[in-house]
Amino acid sequence: MFSGIKGLIVTIKTSLRKPITAQYPKVHAPIHERYMGFPALTWDFDISEPYCVGCMVCIRNCPTQCMTATMGDNPLYAEEKSPRRKIVESFEINLGRCILCNICVEVCNFDAIEMSYEHELSTFERNGRRIDLSALLEMGKKYQKESSWTPPIAKGKAASKKAPETKIEEEQKEV
Ligand code: SF4
Ligand code: SF4
Repeated sequence: MFSGIKGLIVTIKTSLRKPITAQYPKVHAPIHERYMGFPALTWDFDISEPYCVGCMVCIRNCPTQCMTATMGDNPLYAEEKSPRRKIVESFEINLGRCILCNICVEVCNFDAIEMSYEHELSTFERNGRRIDLSALLEMGKKYQKESSWTPPIAKGKAASKKAPETKIEEEQKEV
């Protein structure tokens, strides 16, 4: 009898408790600012073009070989509006194979790729996790906004003390 009342009290207390789990996918739990989601490409809002020059360094270093890219001449460079001689033309990451290792971010010399807050993997399509250039840039823009991202080179974090434009041009000559 006594244990029955005790059990009833526990049941009532539990049913009145504030839920501690989010009703996913209707509700998304807040992301911690240090959360590391899938990689995304960053956007240079000053020049209105991607930071990525398509140099392939990240692709060569990706342990799961889940990235591809192509580069081309940058018309804005010819017009002296951009310091990037080459620019990315296409980029794809198969997020279904990405292991969130951060290596692509570490090896990029152009601040062009960052681990975003994006973590959704579910999709209705067989190849739905193959993300193209425009989707990667949208992910990057969203991340830049949410994290108030500033490129490390612009912040003077780069080891080199050269101006960013000079550094970009010199590195592109080596590609
Ligand atoms: S290393 Fe950076 S600049 Fe080069 S292709 Fe990858 S993201 Fe683009
Ligand atoms: S985080 Fe790792 S596995 Fe994912 S794309 Fe970058 S290098 Fe490849």
